[in-house]
Amino acid sequence: MSSMLEIKDLEVSYGKIVAVKGISFSVDEGEVVTLIGTNGAGKTTTLRTISGLLRPSGGEITFQGKRIDSMPAHEIVTMGLAHSPEGRRIFPKMTVEENLRLGAFGRRDKEITKDIHAAYELFPILGERSNQPAGTFSGGEQQMLAMGRAMLSRPKLLMLDEPSMGLSPIMMKKIMSTVKTLQSQGTTILLVEQNARAALRLATTGYVLEVGKIVTQGTGHELLHSDEVRKAYLGED
Ligand code: ATP
Repeated sequence: MSSMLEIKDLEVSYGKIVAVKGISFSVDEGEVVTLIGTNGAGKTTTLRTISGLLRPSGGEITFQGKRIDSMPAHEIVTMGLAHSPEGRRIFPKMTVEENLRLGAFGRRDKEITKDIHAAYELFPILGERSNQPAGTFSGGEQQMLAMGRAMLSRPKLLMLDEPSMGLSPIMMKKIMSTVKTLQSQGTTILLVEQNARAALRLATTGYVLEVGKIVTQGTGHELLHSDEVRKAYLGED
């Protein structure tokens, strides 16, 4: 069986800077795959390239058996691959509900309102304040909105970039348990996280990136218990 997402020898450059240096990995249906690594390792660049916001300088990206590395971003979303970006990027002057509706821009079905209510069930604060301008939300609340908006495209694969960034421990737990809920509801997840421990606890498979290359891979459990990973990425002696 082929993977849902396959990345082969991916290379991405910013001018002369090669940020991603020939990485290969795959995401199978139902998995939570995590990319961890130090700052500047190329994690965000990888996600932005998969979602069509950057063009690779080499390699291939295949989603559900189809090459997507030269497809426009909006077509990639329509195929079922959504991206909740780093720094949230919600629309501050629009209300919570308007932001959520934007996530459904490519859909033609009649179940959008039903899915908005599902997002309110997942994150009750969004429902309580559905008419509030999103820019007045706290960081954690904006993160929930960004995730909810990505869900509104009904993705088969959801990419989350640093969903716990800047959040309190309680908010972080909430976000991580939501990732688990989404997985149990049938969404496949590709997660980039600074908090390597939290990410590896959830992950079926993890990849460690260092300056644009994959240096280690394994199951979440294996990486969580590897001496090398514990020292370098989990801050243990
Ligand atoms: P972090 O955990 O700090 O977010 P990251 O692993 O997501 O890091 P990237 O943001 O993908 O790393 O950056 C990879 C490399 O590419 C870094 O050296 C970064 O400085 C460089 N880079 C990223 N964006 C640009 C850009 N727009 N122009 C030039 N270089 C860039």
